[in-house]
Amino acid sequence: MSKVKFYSGENVPLEMHKVRIIQKLDLVPIDRRLQAIKEAGNNTFLLKNRDIFLDMLTDSGVNAMSDQQLASMMVADDSYAGSESFTRLEQKIEEIFGMKYFLPVHQGRAAENIISKVYVTPGSFVPMNYHFTTTKAHIVLNGGTVEEFITEEGLKFNSDHPFKGNMDTVALQKLIDRVGASKIAYVRVETGTNLIGGQPHSLENLREVSGICKKNGIKLVFDASLLADNLYFIKAREESCKNKSIREITREISDLCDIIYFSARKLGCARGGGICSRNHDDYMKMRELVTLYEGFLTYGGMSVREIEAMTVGLEETMDENMVNQGPQFIEFVVNELHKAGVPVITPAGGLGAHINAGAFVSHIPQSEYPAGALAAALYLVGGIRGMERGSISEQRDADGNETYANMELLRLAAPRRVFTLSQLKFVVDRIIWLYQNRELIGGLKFVEEPKMLRFFFGKLEGTTGWHEKLVAKFKADFGDSL
Ligand SMILES: *Cc1c(COP(=O)(O)O)cnc(C)c1O
Repeated sequence: MSKVKFYSGENVPLEMHKVRIIQKLDLVPIDRRLQAIKEAGNNTFLLKNRDIFLDMLTDSGVNAMSDQQLASMMVADDSYAGSESFTRLEQKIEEIFGMKYFLPVHQGRAAENIISKVYVTPGSFVPMNYHFTTTKAHIVLNGGTVEEFITEEGLKFNSDHPFKGNMDTVALQKLIDRVGASKIAYVRVETGTNLIGGQPHSLENLREVSGICKKNGIKLVFDASLLADNLYFIKAREESCKNKSIREITREISDLCDIIYFSARKLGCARGGGICSRNHDDYMKMRELVTLYEGFLTYGGMSVREIEAMTVGLEETMDENMVNQGPQFIEFVVNELHKAGVPVITPAGGLGAHINAGAFVSHIPQSEYPAGALAAALYLVGGIRGMERGSISEQRDADGNETYANMELLRLAAPRRVFTLSQLKFVVDRIIWLYQNRELIGGLKFVEEPKMLRFFFGKLEGTTGWHEKLVAKFKADFGDSL
């Protein structure tokens, strides 16, 4: 997979950068980890960074910047209006995406707010391959309905399909036939589908979707937040793209879309976001809302330093060695776990490794939150912070009943260029130990359950005294190791 082959034949991902600034990490003793996870109510969102060894909660805003990005921040042009930093970003966007108009926003969801406010009307539909949390919320808030047309393959735990993020174009056409093109606010394609494991779509699938949109006079809006990973997968897995450069593939993608928006907390390894378009009318409609909600058109709620870092980060994303770094390291983790018999989502996607908690701790009923319990247990045994993506992340219905998630997942995000291979080997090692001792892990129950967004702030406790038993077994096996 890696462009650099090892003589041994082993498939080892290789860091194509060197570390020049470091942040010291501590792995606190397991007794402190036990205390910390209890203080956090078994909710990894509530842990303090000082108690965490490897933070794999998210890839948002925590990707490592390059020396060139940091250097660019020193020459940022600070001004409210007409900043040179903004002009440089605007030019880079046009160079990469071929889109003339660019609107800056403070992060990805701000772009969604503006696009939804302009195009979504009450009673309209927004078909997409799969939703993202903030995307759906903004569409619903404006009276629209989200229709998800992910292909059947996309929702399987294990598959060898290379493009599990593809949209079912037959279902898309059927919806258009049923409700009429005028009822469709726009079609949205999310690249590197976040909530189903960072799974990619193919260029061919996007071409089909774009063809349907053009034929029916519907706008195609592309959420490019996770574009870097998807570019890698298109180049690695799509036969017709093997000999194309990342820049060429990017341009082919953007030529198929009307509006591209992104979170620069992910794409471009900075913070902020933006909306790109090729149409003057679209630009003018969205422009007013940018000044209202974000800030003046040459900063849009971002600091000029972040704007400079974004410009350099986007250019770096056009480098194959750069876009390789996320997916190849995730693939290493997924393949090592899979070989050891640990249930994981396959094939590996971008964003992070996804452990099938429902199968890992199959003795824990969904009413006791298997994915949440596994997240707490992994922190306990390794100081590793993942994110529960299961029923805790869902909300109770109007009558107060649980709505259980389709999949109980533990997501281990891999921020780009942050972790080394030995750190990931440590993660794999502790997960394998945990799998062999999985019967010691017990369920969780809420002690504090907020009505809204309970996964952020809710607190839980073990249904039995399982934490102490797990700690005792850890000490028996690991001795005085941290
Ligand atoms: C993160 C993300 C967003 C939202 O971006 P923020 O910068 O967190 O507001 C939107 N879409 C996708 C696909 C994302 O991954």
